[in-house]
Amino acid sequence: MHLKGKTALVTGSTSGIGLGIAKALAAEGANLIINGFGDDDAIETERAGLEKLSGGKADYDGADLTKPDEIGEMFARADQNFGGVDILVNNAGTQFVSPIEDFPVAKWDLILALNLSSAFHTIRHAVPGMRKKGWGRIIGTASAHSLVASPFKSAYVAAKHGLAGLTKTVALEVAEAGITANCISPGYVWTPLVEGQIPDTMKARNMTREQVINDVLLAGQPTKQFVTVEQVAALAVFLTREEAANITGANLSVDGGWTAA
Ligand code: NAD
Repeated sequence: MHLKGKTALVTGSTSGIGLGIAKALAAEGANLIINGFGDDDAIETERAGLEKLSGGKADYDGADLTKPDEIGEMFARADQNFGGVDILVNNAGTQFVSPIEDFPVAKWDLILALNLSSAFHTIRHAVPGMRKKGWGRIIGTASAHSLVASPFKSAYVAAKHGLAGLTKTVALEVAEAGITANCISPGYVWTPLVEGQIPDTMKARNMTREQVINDVLLAGQPTKQFVTVEQVAALAVFLTREEAANITGANLSVDGGWTAA
């Protein structure tokens, strides 16, 4: 319970990896602000569950992270309700798979706004409070695609490389302020995001569902296993510990060996 009294904001935490990270931080006692879209009742169940886990407070904030104004308003609420954000996890993200020449411009704009620009906005709002407290943790859920590319994922690969670059830059700027900034870069984790891209990949590559899973998704992952949400969340928790105070500006792979190849 090393996070008692600290507040974590995890973007895109109504589902998948973000929800897993929120639960793991709550299990260490952190207050939580969860964010993302979804069914109201399901979100309320998760929010209440987080309070049970932490023994602290958990709020849901429905800010649309593609809208900078809503991000600003979310931070104003965080200041008012929690006295600021100590741990910021930039996790919200989306994917779209298409050859470059057909890539819809609106999808490019959405992916850049959600997967990259939202982190710029959350970080610029979070850093002043962290500086004042002399402590902070900024963690980005990047991707193996922040290090290597795959065809048909131009916007996602560009945004994730950008997030890794943003993280390194911020790490240097806040290095003497007790704040660390790191990326976690998972390979394929079995979540709704991965499930959702199977049909498009089947179409783009003219493959069956099984071929997409075995020959595309797990083809590059030498362990031939999906990464689990819990494995990613455990690393996020480690980065909040004092033992991790000198890990900063790093891009940490949890990808079954994908980017070692
Ligand atoms: P997911 O689809 O399960 O979760 C995405 C979350 O983002 C949801 O909570 C959703 O409501 C939220 N969201 C979507 N649009 C939003 C918006 N406009 N404003 C606020 N929230 C919004 O996906 P996931 O697989 O858990 O992915 C989480 C992160 O991990 C993403 O950044 C993704 O790129 C990254 N990632 C995933 C994998 C994987 O294999 N699943 C691998 C590497 C990296």
